[in-house]
Amino acid sequence: MRMTTASTCCYCGVGCGVLIEHDGERILDVAGDPNHPANLGKLCSKGSTLHLTGDLDARALYPELRLGKSLARSRTDWDSALEHAASVFAETIREHGPDSVAFYVSGQLLTEDYYAFNKLARALIGTNNLDSNSRLCMSSAVVGYKRSLGADAPPCSYEDIEQADCLLIAGSNMAYAHPVLFRRLEEAKAKRPEMTIIVVDPRRTDTSELADLHLPILPGTDVALFHGLLHILMWEGWIDRRFIDAHTEGFDALKSLVRDYSPAMVAELCGISVDDLQTCARLIGSAPAFLSLWCMGLNQSTAGSAKNSALINLHLATGQIGRPGAGPFSLTGQPNAMGGRETGSLSNLLPGHRDATNAEHRAEVANYWGVEQLPKQPGLSAIELFEAVRAGKIKTLWIACTNPAQSLPDQQKVHEALAACPFVVVQEAFFTTETCRHADLLLPAASWGEKEGTVTNSERRISHVRRAVPAPGEARADWAIACDFARRLERYLRPGAPSLFAFENAEALFEEYKPLTAARDLDYSGLSYALIDTFGPQQWPFPPGSEQGTARLYGDGVFPTANGRARFIAEHYQAPKEKREARYPLTLNTGRLRDQWHGMSRTGTAARLFGHVEEALLGMNAEDMRRRRLLDGQLVTVKSRRGSLILPVQKDDSLRAGQAFLPMHWGDRFLKGLGSNVLTLASVDPLSKQPELKHAGIEVEQVELP
Ligand code: SF4
Repeated sequence: MRMTTASTCCYCGVGCGVLIEHDGERILDVAGDPNHPANLGKLCSKGSTLHLTGDLDARALYPELRLGKSLARSRTDWDSALEHAASVFAETIREHGPDSVAFYVSGQLLTEDYYAFNKLARALIGTNNLDSNSRLCMSSAVVGYKRSLGADAPPCSYEDIEQADCLLIAGSNMAYAHPVLFRRLEEAKAKRPEMTIIVVDPRRTDTSELADLHLPILPGTDVALFHGLLHILMWEGWIDRRFIDAHTEGFDALKSLVRDYSPAMVAELCGISVDDLQTCARLIGSAPAFLSLWCMGLNQSTAGSAKNSALINLHLATGQIGRPGAGPFSLTGQPNAMGGRETGSLSNLLPGHRDATNAEHRAEVANYWGVEQLPKQPGLSAIELFEAVRAGKIKTLWIACTNPAQSLPDQQKVHEALAACPFVVVQEAFFTTETCRHADLLLPAASWGEKEGTVTNSERRISHVRRAVPAPGEARADWAIACDFARRLERYLRPGAPSLFAFENAEALFEEYKPLTAARDLDYSGLSYALIDTFGPQQWPFPPGSEQGTARLYGDGVFPTANGRARFIAEHYQAPKEKREARYPLTLNTGRLRDQWHGMSRTGTAARLFGHVEEALLGMNAEDMRRRRLLDGQLVTVKSRRGSLILPVQKDDSLRAGQAFLPMHWGDRFLKGLGSNVLTLASVDPLSKQPELKHAGIEVEQVELP
């Protein structure tokens, strides 16, 4: 019998509603959910092929264990697998302390999964060594929101895209990375051609094709651009002095800093014309409603926090926040990176947007969980964590639903770390990932359509992810694996005490977790699965007694800071970490393709998704190719200070001279050498600890034939 289950797409942070057609055993087809407010029935090429992915040949079906690094893993049962893991963790903690173990989780997890891992790491084991691949994605936006506005809360709604008069898209090819949202923008522009769109991107992209003004700035110069725009806005009197005086602080320091950013200086530094810079400022300054959207081009940078704050400064200076069509609005990369931030799944956070270094916050959560205390020692962020594994300080590592051996920068070192780690547990739906090769214990996880829980999308909207079919083989839900393991570990760490992990289903985890949001900026303690099922997905805050979620934040001009005022952040432009030099004269940018997702563990199983781009190609400007006597399609060696790759090169007119582009998706399953991240560097933003994945010095040479 054919049935339909309403769920949510597992790819990007747009969070589209998906209707799953199935027969109770297999997923047969998918369609966009016309009742879901994020997509209103639309799906992109990835979402509409979800039923064609998840090939059983690539799925992890049974637990597998090896008892020595030189041995192959062999099939085992869940009891033996988790008993072994619990004894190894207990022994490591006993010998080396709680900070000798770590968890590295994923923005693909559901909120309930995250909550289980958080409680496991912080309450049971007593370590803050729990970080997420959201560190590679949104941690600079988290810092930007928190220090400028007081809380990690994107203040806008998708409907603001339709209501904006001027829309600035910075560091985002949303046509590829957030396609359904981009389609909403295209439709809005078609209906209201007077809406102006500005795209700031070193590359010409499908997104910039829609723009009235494209600013192809030199890579990494965003902070200078935003300061230059503010300089002109002030000079022309296009700032909102009333809003600044009533609702902000720190403007005078910023005003004096941006005096140095004259139009001529900024235009030269950014590689654009003064005219274009002034046009951009005029479009922003004269717009009744100004909205900005951004993504990895700002976040994945050693100046990611400064870029976020410099863009938010523009909104505060013009009073463009808290109104329809106005505000700073980050586009979240992963489907539930927001849920990770909410549950405290970065090493510096705790559930309910609390900070791990704040004693009051620790006491609140410890009290709620019924444990004596939570660890004071700050946890390690992703790059630090794998460095600590490589240095032998982390001896036992649990990786859930992510592929760091492909996605972290300076990839050779990540492989070295994983090879050297005495015990690596990988909890995964697909055994094909590069990281699975390093697993001493592989735990098969349920995948999309097979598990239950909630996710939060970019506009703070919480959707119910529903299970349509059973997981194949012996695969289990991520929260269930974490809780089963935790109960076994409790026998070593809290013998005789009542279990902290007596959860029977995902809903029980949600119910325990949601009071931790009460009276916090994100308060969704009034929400329940039943309420979402009856009234549809809701935007937080959603305190008890609410009838609907909150579309927009800060409409009253009050910000969640100590004095209720938003803060201007005055920081100078800093050049990217890796300067161009004679040996590596080209700048490598990495990014997404339209039809692939992350390391392709899922999208790589659908032939149709290779129709857009068949293979990894290095894009180069024609002039740079001519100088190196390279021909289209020729195999080249791409070298950076960290490693090299061999792959074909392709002429790419969208790039300016001196720049190259490589899709982020292909790992060493597909490429000669390690994956694309063998070239990128592990330098991080000092505040967000987010690595610089979009700016590496490279050289490209013809492959020398033997
Ligand atoms: Fe899925 Fe994102 Fe496409 Fe929507 S836009 S269908 S969430 S990948």
